[in-house]
Amino acid sequence: MNFTDRISRKNSEALFAKAKTLFPGGVNSPVRAFKSVTGAPLFIKKGQGSRIWDEDDNEFIDFCGSWGPLILGHNNDEVREAIIAAASNGTSFGTPTKYGVEIGELIVNNHRYLEKIRFVSSGTEAVMSAIRLARGYTGKNKIIKFEGCYHGHVDSLMVKAGSGLVTFGISSSAGVPDAFAQETIVIPLNDLQACIQLLDQHADEIAAVIIEPVPANNGLLIQDYNFLAWLRKICDEHNVLLIFDEVISGFRIGFEGASGFYSIQPDIITFGKVIGGGMPVGAYGGKAEIMSMIAPEGPVYQAGTLSANPVTLAAGIATIKQLLKEGFYEKLEAKTNRLVEEMEAFFKQRSYDMSMPHIASIFWLSFSADRTFTADQIDPAGMEKFKIIHHELLQRGIYFGPSGYEVGFISDAHTDQDIDSLIEALKAAVDLAHEAI
Ligand SMILES: *Cc1c(COP(=O)(O)O)cnc(C)c1O
Repeated sequence: MNFTDRISRKNSEALFAKAKTLFPGGVNSPVRAFKSVTGAPLFIKKGQGSRIWDEDDNEFIDFCGSWGPLILGHNNDEVREAIIAAASNGTSFGTPTKYGVEIGELIVNNHRYLEKIRFVSSGTEAVMSAIRLARGYTGKNKIIKFEGCYHGHVDSLMVKAGSGLVTFGISSSAGVPDAFAQETIVIPLNDLQACIQLLDQHADEIAAVIIEPVPANNGLLIQDYNFLAWLRKICDEHNVLLIFDEVISGFRIGFEGASGFYSIQPDIITFGKVIGGGMPVGAYGGKAEIMSMIAPEGPVYQAGTLSANPVTLAAGIATIKQLLKEGFYEKLEAKTNRLVEEMEAFFKQRSYDMSMPHIASIFWLSFSADRTFTADQIDPAGMEKFKIIHHELLQRGIYFGPSGYEVGFISDAHTDQDIDSLIEALKAAVDLAHEAI
């Protein structure tokens, strides 16, 4: 396959060469290095609405949206103005601020499953703190997680399933002690029996089950309602907490995230991405009784110099207010549905073994016509096709996250014309990939 660029990457290439001397792999987060696709990563200098521009002045319609936070698109007027107004009074005080009360009320008053919340600075930090809270509250140590769910780079969750009969996890990153990994048990998604069996045998050791209720970090592995509802039921029966990691699905699937979509009350919910309006953020919340275990009310210590930073919260408030407007999520979903219907009709017409799993404003390009529930149902061979598709989309002015395991996001800023452009480019790119492979 010939991956000649029709766009120029001269300036991005020069910056990347320098960046490689400064940062491991030239980046500050691994997927940005474009290792699973072709060419140098694009260095982006500007975003406006649905568009981004790179250092070579190429313009793209962006479907990555900074990996999920930008549900309003880039440089939203109200968010930008709120950031400027907050920052003009100073950027951090290390004290409580009025912004905290305002965003706390906006969230808690509009979310059935949250009584109290605490802000931190990243999704990883939110999950790490939620795990500590679950352990502190239950007095137990082990955690059950699902293969294919991502929870940030928390030590005890950088864990994959051991082989054969080994139930306890093995580390999936150098630097994570086996002793930590062994506190985590990894089972496949959609496998209720495995979960029941574990809880029947080890409930006295298990603090919590953590799941992405809409697993969207390793393809889009949408689960059945029944699976999630049963998880809730068996956790209750065994006095084990259920943690929904909604860093990606929170305020994205709907204002109440996946919890609201499925009408399931988790014990703890973690957030990030959307509630920071594009600023660094994380949060975790749940029932008051559990949250009151956190310091200074309770014995579970958790703190942060820049937690609930006023500039971040101002961006979050400006974002949330727009999400609460009548019909906001319906509009997003309608755009997504049109994209999916057109693409799936095209796959069928061409007899391509592909589909487009989707929920609300999240979509994924799957290289299987069948529904995918578990991580091991994803055929890595599809990623060779994705490489071709990604390259061709860039040439046609469409930006997707640089990995076939990543989902795409529709934002409020995408126009019907943007969706048409995506459909046209994606059809051409998918054809090209099938001609090549
Ligand atoms: C993005 C994400 C995280 C990690 O959040 P960061 O802000 O990148 O640390 C954790 N869990 C889920 C489900 C995510 O999507």
